[in-house]
Amino acid sequence: MMKKIAVLGSTGSVGTQTLEIVRTNGDIEVTALAAGNNIELLEEQIREFKPGLAAVWEAEKAAELKDRVRDLDIRIVQGMDGLLEVAGMPGYEILVTAIVGMIGILPTIEAIKAGKDIALANKETLVTAGHIIMPLAEEKGVSVLPVDSEHSAIFQSLQGGQRKALHKILLTASGGPFRGKKREELEHIEAEDALKHPNWAMGRKITIDSSTMVNKGLEVIEAKWLFGVSVEQIQVIVQPQSIIHSMVEYEDGAVIAQLGTPDMKLPIQYALYYPERRYLPGDRLDFGTLSQLTFEKPDMETFYGLKLAFEAGRKGGSLPTVFNAANEKAVQMFLDRKIKYLQIPEIIAACMEHHKNIGEPTVDEILKTERETYEFIKSRW
Ligand code: NDP
Repeated sequence: MMKKIAVLGSTGSVGTQTLEIVRTNGDIEVTALAAGNNIELLEEQIREFKPGLAAVWEAEKAAELKDRVRDLDIRIVQGMDGLLEVAGMPGYEILVTAIVGMIGILPTIEAIKAGKDIALANKETLVTAGHIIMPLAEEKGVSVLPVDSEHSAIFQSLQGGQRKALHKILLTASGGPFRGKKREELEHIEAEDALKHPNWAMGRKITIDSSTMVNKGLEVIEAKWLFGVSVEQIQVIVQPQSIIHSMVEYEDGAVIAQLGTPDMKLPIQYALYYPERRYLPGDRLDFGTLSQLTFEKPDMETFYGLKLAFEAGRKGGSLPTVFNAANEKAVQMFLDRKIKYLQIPEIIAACMEHHKNIGEPTVDEILKTERETYEFIKSRW
């Protein structure tokens, strides 16, 4: 039977790789696509995958796309209403949330309410609204399948094991391009330096987040929600070769890991076909030439964005939203050359310090916290 999916953020790094999986396998139907403003690529995708609905964030771009595809049988929708329409539309089973930012929260909720399974790449959704998303998914009986490679590795390592015997999550990190450096050495880092990731090819924002280890911090909070553990049960381990994608330790001390070459297509395909495993073209691990796997403790003094994430994850409430929003804005300002590299964690820390934590924030309160964090940053930097 054809599987049917909808993709939010189809023009991005995860989105395009998702469509590559669809293309190679040939047995998935794409019912809807959504993008921000890259309508050139979206048009190509529409012509190839023939969805009946597409959403574009910007009104002007949506109108332009409508004109370009008037020879096709497709409806073009716009803005948040458009994203919600895609998420809630009947006739598909899995929503791939490959959109970037907290904009993913509402469509994800809409899809869960409509009984869709979620192939979740958009980590901001769980980081900020995990306390809403996970109980709702349980209530509606839908699966939240991780697409992030580390979470997929944890998920894969949990197959066949007893969930209640899970003792600890060992979340691996590459350490990013500045691993081993001290704070003073990061003083003059420019965007170009931080955009060079040693192992993974990803979108711009997440590449910067990997260099600051804020990405790992977001993953800690994401893992807490996905696997129902406390942050104290999550240990970050630097594994510079990015071969071990993460591990779990059971009550009896057994450690199960998932290994592989760094390729996002594996976790994406696993989420789309779970529990089935399929052939995936690409490089294989060759233990004959793989000379070493090394491990280090993360340097939480230099990369103190990671330390702040543990604090935000432990305290919970609206603090993870502040952590995430402050980082989003700071990364944007760094990419726009308005602040220096080391100011990214400084800004996050100042915002967390300034914020009055809300225990179990509603979506409105989460979005309000995001706005307030942005305003605070604007008033100070
Ligand atoms: P990209 O920046 O490459 O892509 C983001 C996508 O979201 C684009 O398709 C973009 O559209 C779309 N988008 C942005 N804003 C809007 C909007 N307002 N409305 C509709 N669509 C929008 O990001 P990535 O693919 O790297 O990451 C996506 C998510 O997945 C992030 O949350 C990231 O943390 C997570 N993730 C990414 C991994 C990776 O390997 N890249 C690994 C694990 C998780 P457009 O380009 O048309 O503007």
